[in-house]
Amino acid sequence: MIQKTVLITGASSGIGKATAKVLIECGYTVYTAARRVKRMNDLQDLGCIPLKMDITNDEQIVAVVNQIETTHEGVDILINNAGFGMYGAMEDTTIEDARYQFEVNLFGLARLTQLVLPKMREKKSGKIINISSIGGKVYTPLGSWYHATKHALEGWSDCLRLELKAFNIDVVIIEPGAIKTEFGDVMTEPMLKRSGNTAYGELAKKLADVTRASYEVDDASEPEVIADLILKAVQAKKPKTRYAGGKFAKPLLFIRKWGSDRFFDSVIGKMIG
Ligand code: NDP
Repeated sequence: MIQKTVLITGASSGIGKATAKVLIECGYTVYTAARRVKRMNDLQDLGCIPLKMDITNDEQIVAVVNQIETTHEGVDILINNAGFGMYGAMEDTTIEDARYQFEVNLFGLARLTQLVLPKMREKKSGKIINISSIGGKVYTPLGSWYHATKHALEGWSDCLRLELKAFNIDVVIIEPGAIKTEFGDVMTEPMLKRSGNTAYGELAKKLADVTRASYEVDDASEPEVIADLILKAVQAKKPKTRYAGGKFAKPLLFIRKWGSDRFFDSVIGKMIG
C-alpha cells in the first residue's frame, strides 16, 4: 500500500499536535506546519516532518506546498487546523484585528487549499479536513469575529464539497467543543485587554472566568478526543460531512438545532452567569 501524505497545520500545540501523533502511529507520512517550529521537535523525533509556516504569509505557504510536491508528489490529506479565538466586544475590536482573525482562520487555509488542489485533481483523489468548531454553529457574546470566521468556514466547506465531488476530493468539517489546549489562554488575556475596562468590562470578566473554569479546571476534553475523530474522517471510505465531539459539543449543537434563537440566547446567558 502506498503511504498517504498528510499535511497538518497548527501542529505545534493542542489538537494539531495530538492529531500528528495519531497519524504517524498509523503509518501516514506526516508533514506538520506552524510558526513555532521548535515546538514540533517532539513530532520530528516520532517521524513527522515539521515545516515553518505562518498561515498568513503567502511566501511561506507556497514554500511548504512546493517542498511536499518535490519530495512526496503532493498532499493527499490536508488538515486545516491552525486557528485561534480573537475575543472582545465587537465595538472594541479594530477592523484591522478583525481582518487578521479572518486571515488566520479562513483566508490562510483557503490559500493553502488552492495550492494543494491541482495535484489532488490530477490524482483524482484527496481529502480536505477543516477544523471548524461548534462555534461554527453556535455563538457567544464577545465572540463575534471568531464565530464569524467559523460560521464562514462551515459554509465555505459545504460549497467546496460540492465543487470538488467530480474530482473525487472530499471535504469534511470537524466541530470540537471545549478542548484542553492553548486555545483558552490565547483567547482570554487579549479579550480582557481589549474589553476588560470598557462598557463590556463586566461581561468580559465573567466570560474570562467561565472560560478559565472550562479550560483550566478538569472540565474540557483532551485533544486526543478530536484527534480520534479526525482519524475516523481520514480513514473512512465515505466519511460523514461533519464530526462533532468534546465537552459541550453534542448538547449545545442539539439545542441550537432544535430550539429557537431566543432559547439558545438564554442558555448561553445562563452559562456565562
Ligand atoms: P492551540 O492554541 O493549542 O493551537 C493552535 C495552533 O494554531 C498552534 O499550533 C499555532 O501554532 C497555530 N497557529 C495560530 N496562529 C497561526 C498562524 N498565524 N500561522 C500558523 N499557525 C498558527 O489551539 P487548538 O489546538 O485548540 O486549536 C486548533 C483548532 O481547533 C483551531 O482552529 C481552533 O479554532 C479549533 N477549536 C478549538 C477548540 C478548543 O476548545 N480548544 C474548540 C473549537 C475549535 P503557532 O503559534 O506555533 O504558529
